[in-house]
Amino acid sequence: MTEDAIRNALSVVKYPGFSRDIVSFGLVKSILIEKGVVSVGIQIQTRDPEVPEQIFKACHEILDEIAGDPEKVQIGIDIQDPPGNATTPGGATDSQSIPGVKRIIAVASGKGGVGKSTVSSNLAVTLSRQGLKVGLCDCDLYGPSIALMFGATDQQPMADTKERIIPIEAHGIKLMSMGFLLGDDAPVIVRGPLATRYTQQFLQGVAWGELDVLILDLPPGTGDIQLTTVQTIALDGAIVVTTPQEVALIDARKAISMFAKVNVRILGLIENMSWFECEHGTRYHLFGEGGGQREAELLDIPLLAQIPLDPDTRQRCDDGLPVALLDGSQSPIAAAFQRAAEALPVSAPA
Ligand code: ADP
Repeated sequence: MTEDAIRNALSVVKYPGFSRDIVSFGLVKSILIEKGVVSVGIQIQTRDPEVPEQIFKACHEILDEIAGDPEKVQIGIDIQDPPGNATTPGGATDSQSIPGVKRIIAVASGKGGVGKSTVSSNLAVTLSRQGLKVGLCDCDLYGPSIALMFGATDQQPMADTKERIIPIEAHGIKLMSMGFLLGDDAPVIVRGPLATRYTQQFLQGVAWGELDVLILDLPPGTGDIQLTTVQTIALDGAIVVTTPQEVALIDARKAISMFAKVNVRILGLIENMSWFECEHGTRYHLFGEGGGQREAELLDIPLLAQIPLDPDTRQRCDDGLPVALLDGSQSPIAAAFQRAAEALPVSAPA
């Protein structure tokens, strides 16, 4: 029985009504183990008496088993009134799920230009081809590219009667992107608080409807928008995209540690631009070889795919026809995306 083991065990207790757990919400304030007795201190901001009761019961069930005796488990819950009209667990951080959306997966990268949007688009298409209802949100306010990758740059989203934005649909996927709201040349001078507000509006002001999975294409790096997103939305996990090159891996590591800090599970790494294969079948490792594999082993996370540099993939991006629209038998790259999609925590439709 160690503090880490207790914390780990408690991380399966979901905050009532949320897909996120009490540990990642930062509600477990203290864990003390003394002479075989575990004392856990939990702090909750709520006005709903059911919430502490459910959490108390769920924690007891888990800890009683670990301690082997209910007498050796003490759970103290400090209940406070939430500030203002906040109704969410942390009070100040309004981390919540999006109604109607079963799973939310973020695609991130430390560096720009490594193919994060290409990966997001192709994963979305792959999951949709498997029969799932998929949404894709381009959270990159500075360089949105999803609209282009889905051949939907000329589309303008409308609002519904509740003033929520109706997503654009392309290739069976519900899309939302700043690219739909801005012209090609519009400068996006949104920083700090404005960026945060836009991101929240994007995620919560869109009429997504019923979705099996929503993929969030995060902007590169670990700045305001990424932090806002991981703090305000209850993510089911994150995928980090990198090239095999050390400079990309260094930044990928930073992205991974950002998710770790807020307890978002890393689903795996996708190595893009792994090699270029010429018409004679020789592979050229332009950005180095094996970097993604080594990093995945080092961090003990799965390497979900290695995607080669491929002119057809690039062309299809620009034409708005993601390569994953092809069958796996027609394209080894589409097949690689299928294998990556199989490792994601989304259930195939019955
Ligand atoms: P990011 O989102 O990381 O900035 P993008 O997905 O926009 O990167 O990709 C940057 C550019 O590289 C795009 O023009 C895209 O078409 C191209 N690209 C990405 N991955 C590949 C690949 N595997 N093969 C060929 N071109 C690629």
